[in-house]
Amino acid sequence: MNSNSYFDIGANLTHESFDKDLITVIKEAKQNNVKKICITSTSIEDTKVSLKLLENDQNFFITTCGIHPHNADTFEESNIDEIKNLSEHPSVKAIGETGLDFNRNYSKKENQILCFKSQIGVAQDLNLPLFLHQREAHKDFMDCFKNIDLKVNAVVHCFTGEKEEFYEYLDRGFWIGFTGWICDPVRGKHMIDLIANMPLERIMIETDSPYLLPKNLEIKGRRNEPKFIVEVAKKIATLQNKSLEEITQIFFENSQKFFNL
Ligand SMILES: [Zn+2]
Repeated sequence: MNSNSYFDIGANLTHESFDKDLITVIKEAKQNNVKKICITSTSIEDTKVSLKLLENDQNFFITTCGIHPHNADTFEESNIDEIKNLSEHPSVKAIGETGLDFNRNYSKKENQILCFKSQIGVAQDLNLPLFLHQREAHKDFMDCFKNIDLKVNAVVHCFTGEKEEFYEYLDRGFWIGFTGWICDPVRGKHMIDLIANMPLERIMIETDSPYLLPKNLEIKGRRNEPKFIVEVAKKIATLQNKSLEEITQIFFENSQKFFNL
């Protein structure tokens, strides 16, 4: 009987909230059957920090390289070469986070779109998957893929939308990442029926640590950590009426396939 193995496809471990005790966080993740973590990057600088962080544990960590829509105002043409150079590192397994965020609008819309489209091009050139972020920008987000023959895997991480969006993504060939958002009885309520009936072939799970601590844990004010990934798996297993072992194995295999590991 295999023990459950978890693959957290998105954790922001370079976040300052992990500065003091990252070693403990990683140790506890491993004790809780987390076997792989993808450290998500939000900027060029962030990728460099991330690569340093994973230096001594390259079997356990992978990372992404790219510019988050929040940072799109800082984007310059020269960043494309920087992303390409950094992505030569064997631990860089995806381009991102990239996408559009019209919820916060920390960067101008036109800059977000330019930065996003450039990174779709980079991913295609390098044959690396895309790690995508979309908030309140679904239509423009899909428009960025118009007339593009996408040859690489792409995951829309932290899915929180409606059924129509979900199936539009699947129809476009995208993969979907779920976070602890779905464990929130209020904010996750609209997704219950969708999750119960969705096909699992292109579904993966993530914590998005330190954000989105699963609400059912009732650890007030505490940051999220990769060890809590089990909560996301449990929620989906219950709704899909499957065992935790079965669902966990599916997600782990999906993740390996997605990142071409
Ligand atoms: Zn994101």
